[in-house]
Amino acid sequence: MRHFTYQDGQMMAENISLSTIAEQVGTPTYIYSTATIKRHYHVFAKAISGMDNLIAYSVKANSNLAILSLLAKLGAGADVVSIGELTRALAAGISPGKIVFSGVGKTHEELRAALNANILQFNVESLPELHALSAIANEMGKVARIAFRINPDVRAGGHEKISTGQAENKFGINIDLAPAAYAEAATLPAIEIVGIDMHIGSQIDTLAPFEQALNKGIELIKTLRANGHDIRIYDFGGGLGIPYSHDENTPPLPELYGKMIERVTKDLDLKMIFEPGRVIVGNAGVLLAKTIYVKKGSVRNFVILDAAMNDLIRPALYASHHDIEPVTLHANGAPTQTYDIVGPICESSDTFAKQYDLPEVSTGDLMVIHSAGAYGAVQSGQYNTRPLVPEVLVSDDKYEIIRNRPSIEDILKSENIPDWI
Ligand SMILES: *Cc1c(COP(=O)(O)O)cnc(C)c1O
Repeated sequence: MRHFTYQDGQMMAENISLSTIAEQVGTPTYIYSTATIKRHYHVFAKAISGMDNLIAYSVKANSNLAILSLLAKLGAGADVVSIGELTRALAAGISPGKIVFSGVGKTHEELRAALNANILQFNVESLPELHALSAIANEMGKVARIAFRINPDVRAGGHEKISTGQAENKFGINIDLAPAAYAEAATLPAIEIVGIDMHIGSQIDTLAPFEQALNKGIELIKTLRANGHDIRIYDFGGGLGIPYSHDENTPPLPELYGKMIERVTKDLDLKMIFEPGRVIVGNAGVLLAKTIYVKKGSVRNFVILDAAMNDLIRPALYASHHDIEPVTLHANGAPTQTYDIVGPICESSDTFAKQYDLPEVSTGDLMVIHSAGAYGAVQSGQYNTRPLVPEVLVSDDKYEIIRNRPSIEDILKSENIPDWI
C-alpha cells in the first residue's frame, strides 16, 4: 500500500499535501513516507520470522542518514558496498555486528576500515580479495569472518543491467570454483569461514529463480560441510521486486518469498541473512516535479518537467517504468491527452515516460513520479549544473528536509581555478 494517495483531489504524503511541500521546499524534490518504510520493514521481517535471520538493509538503495537511522531503530543491520556506506551505517547507529560488506572491488583502505569497525561479515568476491583481506587482517591482529559470494549461474532480474547471477557477470565466484576457493581460504591466517553469500539480481518478479539459486547454494553448503567447513550462515542477498505499475505483473509478496525459503532451508541449521533494498524503500518515495512547459509537436505532445535524468536516472538507465500522476486531480471528465513526459536536459534519454495518457496538463502543474524511493536520490548528480535534488521525510502531518538543495554558489565553491591559467 502506498501512503501517497488523493484526499479531496490533492495528492498527499501521509497527511501533508504535496502542494504544501512544493511551496515550502521547491521542486524537484524527493519525498519519503516514514509510515511506508516502517510498514515494509515489518512486513519483510514478519515474512522471514520463522527462520533465524538478520535483515541487512541494502544501503545503496537509499542511503540517506535519516532513512538509515529509521531502519536502525527498527532493528535493521546493513549491507554496505563502500567505505562511504560503512561510515553512513555506523553514523546512523547500525551496530557493526549487523553489518556485512559486499562488492566486487573493495580497496585495501576499505578492508582495513571494515576490520577496524569489527563488522559481522565480508562477502568476498575473488581470491585476490581473499588474500588481501587475510594479509591485512593478519597484520592488524584481527580475524575476518568471510562468506564467498557465489555466482550460481541463474538468470534473474528485471533488466540485463541489474542481473548479477549469471556465469558471465562480474560478480562472485563461479559455483563450480567454490569448493577450491573455500579450501584455499581454510589455509589462510586471520580468516574465519562462516558461510556462503549470493545476490542474483534486482527487481526479480517470480520465485522460480530465487528457488533455483537457493537450491544450488544448499547443494554447495552440503559439499562444503562434507569437506569440513563450518558453514553456519547463508546470506541470500536482496532482489525481491516491487510493483512499479498498477497494470504490470505483481512480484511475489514477501510472505511467499519467506515461506519458500523457510521450506527449502529448514533442518539445515542455518542463520539466514537478507539484504533487501528496493522492497523496503522503493514504494516509500516519490519524486515531485513541476511542469515548466507543455509543448505541442507535429507528432507528439511533450510535458517538460523541472525534474530530469540527473535527479532520477532509472528510466534512462534501465528503461524502467514509473507511474506519473498530477498532484491536483482534475474535475471528472477532464479531457485526456497523450504526452511524452520529459526533463530539460539535452539527451533524448532524458524522458520519464513515452506516449503516456494524462488529464490535460498545464504550465505550473505539479506532477508526482511514483516508486522513486529506491535507486533514485542515491543515483542523482549535478549534470547541467543542476543542484543535487533535495530529500524530504514525512511523518503523519509533519516533514523535515533530510538532504538540502545546494545553491549554485555551493557548487561553484567546490571547484578551483589554478592560478597558472
Ligand atoms: C543491490 C544489492 C542488494 C539489494 O538489492 P534490491 O534489489 O534492492 O533488494 C543486495 N545485495 C547486494 C550485494 C546488492 O548489490
